[in-house]
Amino acid sequence: MDTQYYKKKLEDELKLLTKELKTVGRINPDNPNDWEATGNPETNQDDDHSDLNDNADDQEEFRERNAILTDLEIRFNNVKNALKKIDEDNYGICKECGEDIEKERLEANPAAETCIKHKK
Ligand SMILES: [Zn+2]
Repeated sequence: MDTQYYKKKLEDELKLLTKELKTVGRINPDNPNDWEATGNPETNQDDDHSDLNDNADDQEEFRERNAILTDLEIRFNNVKNALKKIDEDNYGICKECGEDIEKERLEANPAAETCIKHKK
């Protein structure tokens, strides 16, 4: 298998995901492997809470941002995992049955962890 080819694809995707993550969050200063959504109204001490409607909007916006971030973070971790597997030389193997993952599946999703049969 041409792992260099998939490595390049995964690295490109990681860059893209990092860029998207930065639009909704930042790296947790206490844990470089964790991302957190920015603009949490509950931790934003400078905020003037006199306008309750504004605050509700902030909450809503933060929840949305957090949902996007959670989704991106899952993909980010999958891609990182796949890159780790390339380094460990066991990339492209289904974690359910241990068979090789189909080429077309890896083409569509280089971070896939299972073959087509064991796709959830
Ligand atoms: Zn399988």
